[in-house]
Amino acid sequence: MKSSAQHILVLGMGGTIAGLARDPRHPGMYEAGRVSIESLLAGIQIDPALEGFEIQSQQIASIDSRDLSEDLLTQLGMAVKEALHDSAVLGVVVTHGTDTIEETGIFLDAVCSKAAQNQGKRVVLTGAMLPSNAMGADGPLNLQAALHWVGNDISNCPPGIFAIFAGRVCLARDLAKRHTTELNAPLRDSLSSPVHLINPSWLSTVRAIQAASSADLPIPPEKEWPWVEIVMSHAGARPETIERLASQGIQGLVIAGTGMGGVHSVWQAPLQSLESDGVAIVRASRTGAGNVSPDRLNGVSAGDLTPPKARIALQLALYAAAHPAESAKSLGWQDFFARIAVLLEH
Ligand code: ASP
Repeated sequence: MKSSAQHILVLGMGGTIAGLARDPRHPGMYEAGRVSIESLLAGIQIDPALEGFEIQSQQIASIDSRDLSEDLLTQLGMAVKEALHDSAVLGVVVTHGTDTIEETGIFLDAVCSKAAQNQGKRVVLTGAMLPSNAMGADGPLNLQAALHWVGNDISNCPPGIFAIFAGRVCLARDLAKRHTTELNAPLRDSLSSPVHLINPSWLSTVRAIQAASSADLPIPPEKEWPWVEIVMSHAGARPETIERLASQGIQGLVIAGTGMGGVHSVWQAPLQSLESDGVAIVRASRTGAGNVSPDRLNGVSAGDLTPPKARIALQLALYAAAHPAESAKSLGWQDFFARIAVLLEH
């Protein structure tokens, strides 16, 4: 239940939304993560419907998100989880760089979405494609829309983990940056709805995905994330690529396969020996859209997760399987991975 004694929490991670261009006329030349979240909030007009609610901010990081680390994901996940369980918090906005926002989106969805639903709160990820001092900067509008989505009783929209860019909203798990410069890059190919004119069919898909999702997975503590790498299958692939990885001690491998998750045949033998050594293998697709076929030789299908999202999901699944006390039941990594990857085909 919403009360004016509650506040909205805004967590700053840096990114282009907090970026500064040396010369605003040349917005491509800028440094990400230079402006504090407090200053970004001071520069925007707040939705009149949110008057009476305090907006508090916390700077978790000031990075270019290409440098996102697992430790920072842990810190962000803990901060979001704490806020979801704090009755003084109405909801949470996270400002983030767009380069790796899809990793953070699937992470927060996997570790916090049930908590958000149970507590009746929304978490909204947003960012920008233009630095804060560029002409026509998109950050202020994105931040305003995210605050609106967190703080209002939006008709029939359930609580959960969302993302907003360029006037559109999607589930955070559906983020995937698909363009280098377009303002809607992080959700241009994702299932989404206009923020201010909600599409009922999107809303029913959101409900169906939420109904199909199970308990939140544990957040790996700092320095305890399993080591998982991504390799892309391509013309002229060499077996040495996989053989070298095998000797490094990795715990998991995501293959960005061709087409429906295909792998160059010269990789089949080294992948099989990796699997028999206990390395978890997941097959995603390098195409950028669609599902991966489940019936291939090596590894488990990533469903429709992109390789970077499949990597986070595999890390969380490996950690959950190795820490049964923190999870509901003692299950294999494949079970935890399927909980994240296989919800609904859409
Ligand atoms: N390199 C920037 C970042 O991810 C890009 C952005 O935010 O749009 O932090």
